[in-house]
Order: sequence, then C-alpha cells, then structure tokens
Amino acid sequence: MKGSCVCGKVTYEITPPFKTFQYCHCSRCRKFTGGAQAPNLFVPPLQFQWLQGQEYLGRFEHPDAKYFATCFCMNCGSSLPWAVQGGKNIVVPAGTLDEDPGIQPQQNIFWGSKAPWFNSPCDLPKHEEFPTK
Ligand SMILES: [Zn+2]
Ligand SMILES: [Zn+2]
Repeated sequence: MKGSCVCGKVTYEITPPFKTFQYCHCSRCRKFTGGAQAPNLFVPPLQFQWLQGQEYLGRFEHPDAKYFATCFCMNCGSSLPWAVQGGKNIVVPAGTLDEDPGIQPQQNIFWGSKAPWFNSPCDLPKHEEFPTK
C-alpha cells in the first residue's frame, strides 16, 4: 500500500496488517497537522519503506516528548510517516495514503486534550465539493 506527499517527490510503501488506527487529539498533533486531530496508523518498522525522495525528508524530535516526533517533506511541507522516538513503531498519517487501508479508526486518544471547537464532521451539512451558492 502506497502513500505520498502533496508534491509527490516523497513516496513510501507499507505492508499490512496495521497494529492500530486511531485519532490523536493531543495539542502537538493539532499543531503539526493544523487539524482537529491526527488520524494515525501504526505499523512495525519492518513493514515500512521509503520508495523515493528520502533526500527531501525533514524530521523534528520534540525534546520534551517520550515518543512524539514529526517527519515532513521539505519541498511541500506535507506530514509524512515518522518513527517514534526509540524506533518501535512507524506512525503513518492516514491522509498521506494513496489507497484505502480497508480499516477505519478504532479509537480517540488524548480526548481530554481535544480542541474546544471540535465537533463531529459527520453531523454537519455535506457538499460533494465546494458548496453551491
Ligand atoms: Zn512533497
Ligand atoms: Zn498526538
């Protein structure tokens, strides 16, 4: 199963099965993604490989965090899969996948830190693309 960044310079491949799929609502994930929460899949390092564009990879390790780090494309700024500090898991931002992983998120973590403005997108009006005027 393949994934990539917005500009397409970085691509990667993961091999199922996934260990877990969850939404993280922590403040670090919100800052990094710019979203209400981060939909993250977890795989063991042996089930992950970069296919191209490794020279574009940037990495940030939060000095106060036990596991949190980030990986991103230095050309387009997209979030990309990152190895947790210590290297036990690869966290795959699900929005970077180019294929359907066939599973959906199973839980929310750091729910206690969720953004005060968060509401469930499914409860809101839905437009297929831009809303019509
Ligand atoms: Zn890119
Ligand atoms: Zn988080």
